[in-house]
Amino acid sequence: MPDLIRLLPDSIANQIAAGEVVQRPASVVKELLENSLDAGATNIILTYRDGGQTFIEVIDNGLGMNETDARMAWERHATSKIEKAEDLFALHTFGFRGEALASIAAVAQVEMRTRQRHSDFGIELLIEASEIRRQGPVSCPEGTAIRVKNLFFNIPARRKFLKSVSVEGKHIIETFEKVALAYPDVSMSLYNGEQEVHRLSSGNLENRIRQLFGDTRSDSLIPLNEDTEIVGISGFVGAPGLSRKTRGEQYFYVNRRFIRNPYFQHAVQTAYEGLIDSDSFPLFVLFLEIDPSKVDVNVHPTKTEVKFEEAQAIYSILKSVVRRALGAYHHTPQMDELIGARIDFGNRNPSNAGYSPDVRVNTSFNPFERTQKDRVPTEWEKLYEPFRDREWEQLSKPPEKPTHGELFTTSHTLRESFQLDAQHAVCNLDGNLYIVQLQHAVERIVYEKYNQRVQPIASQQLLFPRTVEFSAGDFELICGLLEEINEMGFDISPFGRNTVIINGTPADIAKGNEQHMLEGILATYKSNMQELKLQKRENIARSLARNTSLKMESRLSSNELNELISELFQTSEPAYTPGGKPTFVMFDPNQLNTLFKK
Ligand code: ADP
Ligand code: MG
Repeated sequence: MPDLIRLLPDSIANQIAAGEVVQRPASVVKELLENSLDAGATNIILTYRDGGQTFIEVIDNGLGMNETDARMAWERHATSKIEKAEDLFALHTFGFRGEALASIAAVAQVEMRTRQRHSDFGIELLIEASEIRRQGPVSCPEGTAIRVKNLFFNIPARRKFLKSVSVEGKHIIETFEKVALAYPDVSMSLYNGEQEVHRLSSGNLENRIRQLFGDTRSDSLIPLNEDTEIVGISGFVGAPGLSRKTRGEQYFYVNRRFIRNPYFQHAVQTAYEGLIDSDSFPLFVLFLEIDPSKVDVNVHPTKTEVKFEEAQAIYSILKSVVRRALGAYHHTPQMDELIGARIDFGNRNPSNAGYSPDVRVNTSFNPFERTQKDRVPTEWEKLYEPFRDREWEQLSKPPEKPTHGELFTTSHTLRESFQLDAQHAVCNLDGNLYIVQLQHAVERIVYEKYNQRVQPIASQQLLFPRTVEFSAGDFELICGLLEEINEMGFDISPFGRNTVIINGTPADIAKGNEQHMLEGILATYKSNMQELKLQKRENIARSLARNTSLKMESRLSSNELNELISELFQTSEPAYTPGGKPTFVMFDPNQLNTLFKK
């Protein structure tokens, strides 16, 4: 009987390995870019054509290879990066298995030119389906240039699985961007044929994010830098206003390699709760530094899925670090002052990582009841009085550096304010110009009042109770919420089939449009319910805030306006509505100066 077992020829074994490593043109791009970075390149140029299916070229100015290495690099299990098995686990970079080039060469036509620094000549190599076609000296620049042509030319079945040129091209661009964010110090260019897609000069991470994602406002990226025993976290998160409706601009790196991790993504998303709508996604580029022995990178062949030993601890550290950065950002109107405060956070161990800024909220504030002419000065007015007597010199002194907890109480000085129109007010706070959107400001204030309320909220009985009829489904929903709604100062009860009766409303809400308001609350509640999965109370508070409006029939008096502004800045997140819309825009004198430079 003949022997049945044979060793597979290398070319077939390589093709099988290629099935794992080379799934699409973008996988080739990823491997080539990583090799260039591993070779210490400071400049990388990537060009592709036809979604990478016919042509991918990576040119770098890295170390280059000598004649033997240039040849060896294409053998399976050929790597300069691992010597013993332990290295596999100790490496700070991922997935050195010496398979990438061998796999690529098995399924494409490859050309390489490489020259080591200080070497007189370079080496050229042509390989097709693992077979070397040509090899010899060549004159070429220092570094390495690799071209991968006609991917899967010898495996029609794989070719069929490729998506359209534009989809494959999009994958390439995304791969390039992921790498580019992790290496802002390397200049990198990307061309689709002749067309320039990205030309990124070397710089810091902030510059790179801006180069990649377009010109965002100068204070819209919030830096993070936190070291704990379990994980180091650095990078940037976007201000809530930068959030998008798609999950695109979210990047996690572990030890500088891109990973996908829905669990950690969720941690960041939760940190934005109350600042953005649930159907938007915050921008972030976050780098986690973790002891490599506590990370298992071999979970997924494309190495973007990774297992962590201490995932839960990382989750909560991540959430509170992001939350704190956002808190600091919102509480300080001037970014320059903030930078010092941020650095101060320094080394914080995970046990007190749950810190959140402590700002006093005046829960008894009522932005609507303005009829009492002779009321006692509010907390804010008390601050305002002594200011009037101060000398000019004192006025022009810069405000004292705020510390947490007094940011918008003692250290803010409101100098002038006036209402521009029904929706906007302008004020001078600490010498900076603020334009406040009044409706949004009210939404933030009302939300905090109802969400964080300590005392019961006063209800006022209606002279003529109103009945409101709902659809059967909405009626059921509203009956389930009555207890919470009534806690907020409503007095509503079921009144026959699909109907409720409104006997009273929160004392401070404008009268006359109760039905409209209740319907609005229900509509907002339902859409929040689907999208946000909020707690009942939080959702009702938001819905109420969203559907509360300023009494616009009369202008605010200057006292009313001042009080409104002061109350806004006593809330926990003065800059945004609970849904993430901005409540004000601010210009400091420097920004004003630049506006007039053009
Ligand atoms: P790995 O990166 O896992 O070592 P690869 O198959 O990707 O395996 O590469 C094999 C080897 O080829 C690398 O270890 C490196 O020595 C060499 N190499 C690949 N690309 C480059 C490059 N752009 N510049 C210099 N050396 C390279
Ligand atoms: Mg490699």
